[in-house]
Amino acid sequence: MRRKLVAGNWKMNGSIAANALLLAEIKAGLGNAACDAAVCVPAPYFAQCQALLSGSAIALGAQDMSAHDAGAYTGEVSASMLLEFSCRYVIVGHSERRAYFGETNELVAQKAVRAIKAGLIPIVCVGETLAQREAGRTDVIVGEQIDAVLSLIAENDLSKIVVAYEPVWAIGTGETATPEMAQEVHAMLRKRLSAKNAQAAMQVKILYGGSMKPENAKELLAMPDIDGGLIGGAALKAMDFLSIIRAA
Ligand code: PEP
Repeated sequence: MRRKLVAGNWKMNGSIAANALLLAEIKAGLGNAACDAAVCVPAPYFAQCQALLSGSAIALGAQDMSAHDAGAYTGEVSASMLLEFSCRYVIVGHSERRAYFGETNELVAQKAVRAIKAGLIPIVCVGETLAQREAGRTDVIVGEQIDAVLSLIAENDLSKIVVAYEPVWAIGTGETATPEMAQEVHAMLRKRLSAKNAQAAMQVKILYGGSMKPENAKELLAMPDIDGGLIGGAALKAMDFLSIIRAA
């Protein structure tokens, strides 16, 4: 049985005052959650959020990291820096990084492997655009994205990743994949993981992301291969985030 994970992706949102309020509300309403929960926050707020989450069941995560260890890489943030602020997770290959910052499948794979080496859990995002889905290329595109990671990762490390299927057309649009559509891609992803390491593939959490909200979380999370959610917009409202956690 895979324990579910609900991870919030705050993206480039927040302020010291807003973060304090949001995390106070989430902590107050959390109770005994039946799933793992995390918030992936902008890097300047790591110290603040580390302090606010200390002793709570909510883990801290980052939204990206460098594929390099250290050195002359202006603007980059390394895995060891994330660890200094008790980050447990790091999102790699979010579709916004791929679309706006030119991140390739290979770079995303390098980041995932670097994260594992450092002891972080990479949340590897994959997903197709609307044009790719309409052209019937979902499996090819998502397959290539996950295969890039599988070709670089050691067999024994496979169980250390989390995968997030995020159809690009569903991110921030209010459009959601139906539970059946999402399940189909999740099952395909697990099959690919199985080809690398069948035992580990059964342990890997595959999250769904793309306008998951209180109204649709329960039916998505009921699918056999949907092991949680990566939540954008709804993670910025404590009530909504908590209600998705309760649905998990
Ligand atoms: C995301 O960006 O990871 C995401 C899933 O966003 P939203 O929930 O707003 O669609």
